[in-house]
Amino acid sequence: MSASLAASETSTKAAAHTTGPSPAVMGTYARQNLVFERGEGAWLITAAGDRYLDFASGIAVNVLGHAHPRLVAALTEQAGKLWHTSNLYRVEGQERLAERLVASTFADKVFFCNSGAEACEAAIKAVRRYHYVSGKPERWRIVTFSGAFHGRTLATIAAGGNDKYLEGFGPPVEGFDHVPFGDLTAAAEAIGPETAAIMIEPAQGEGGVNVAGVEFLRELRELCDKHGLLLVFDEVQCGMGRSGKLFAYEWTGIAPDLMPIAKGIGGGFPLGALLATEDAAKGLTAGTHGSTFGGNPLAMAVGYAVLDAVLEPGFLDGVQQKALRLKQALAAVKDSHPNLVEEVRGQGLLTGIKVKVAPAEVVKAAIGEKLLVAGASDNVVRLLPPLNVADEEIAEAIQRLSRALDRVSASTT
Ligand SMILES: *Cc1c(COP(=O)(O)O)cnc(C)c1O
Repeated sequence: MSASLAASETSTKAAAHTTGPSPAVMGTYARQNLVFERGEGAWLITAAGDRYLDFASGIAVNVLGHAHPRLVAALTEQAGKLWHTSNLYRVEGQERLAERLVASTFADKVFFCNSGAEACEAAIKAVRRYHYVSGKPERWRIVTFSGAFHGRTLATIAAGGNDKYLEGFGPPVEGFDHVPFGDLTAAAEAIGPETAAIMIEPAQGEGGVNVAGVEFLRELRELCDKHGLLLVFDEVQCGMGRSGKLFAYEWTGIAPDLMPIAKGIGGGFPLGALLATEDAAKGLTAGTHGSTFGGNPLAMAVGYAVLDAVLEPGFLDGVQQKALRLKQALAAVKDSHPNLVEEVRGQGLLTGIKVKVAPAEVVKAAIGEKLLVAGASDNVVRLLPPLNVADEEIAEAIQRLSRALDRVSASTT
């Protein structure tokens, strides 16, 4: 078939699906029937020119909003030079970004990958190898928490323990002991001679914006120290400035041994990483783990530009101020919609409202007001604006959310 014939056939097929999703894309997501053509800061714009205020940020990913000039420049500059060499060779961008991450956190070492699940998977492997090279191969189990989300690979769905994500995929990967989120006694009782680590999100995102108390996280640190366990903080969603600090662990005065990150670090470019202390990283020696695309020069260039912006003086203070503004405004929304809003939750700009209807109804009504928000478990609707969102955009989002809730009220009464 000639190239032009192939092209025209493709366009005819595509044209048939302009009113709904193409069946050529596997149906693994319950998508909104919305297509965006471009983005500008906190706004997503359709081909028809409709502007949506984006308080989902690609699920806490677009920390600097859409098409940020610094990120566009970093990506295009790198694109003109070098895309990929693999990890057969040194990658300059990896060394530069790793050193900046090490300088800004508890970590001594960084492993680069492409997603949150991959970063969590690396953390699980690092934990097991750590004890293996320490002469304790019998220690390989990890204590995890109810409501946890660590990704969709076979090991990370087992770590998360959510039945909905495990169903039909055969026997779950062994080695995870689940205890209720926030229950120190249960965590302590779950520790046995085979326990290798405790793994937790300092603030759960998918689980419904559940923030672990500072005290609880400190007590987990103590438990780990007492029993020779590694402490893993999954900061894939709450990290990279979302909590109001560069990483959420900074609110606690303690640090983890391992920290998978992703989502925000790439600002929209696929990028994940596992941060570790020298000791916790000691099992992952040459040949034990890898990723072809991990630490790809394009991802490194963007990741560095994101980190550079988030570390700029005043940026994180700005996040904290905006978070306070958003939280206060949401409290007012709760007061004006007591029939629908049960609670306002969050840490920094990882915020949510617990609603008394299905979150999907609120998400849908918000779309009617051209506001994008994201559902979560536990009947929560998440508001995850870009970290550089403007005060006026917060005010605008609150008005749109209020109107969306009015719509839901009207349709349920
Ligand atoms: C999203 C998320 C993951 C998985 O990240 P993917 O990039 O979707 O694989 C893991 N942990 C947490 C806390 C997350 O929010």
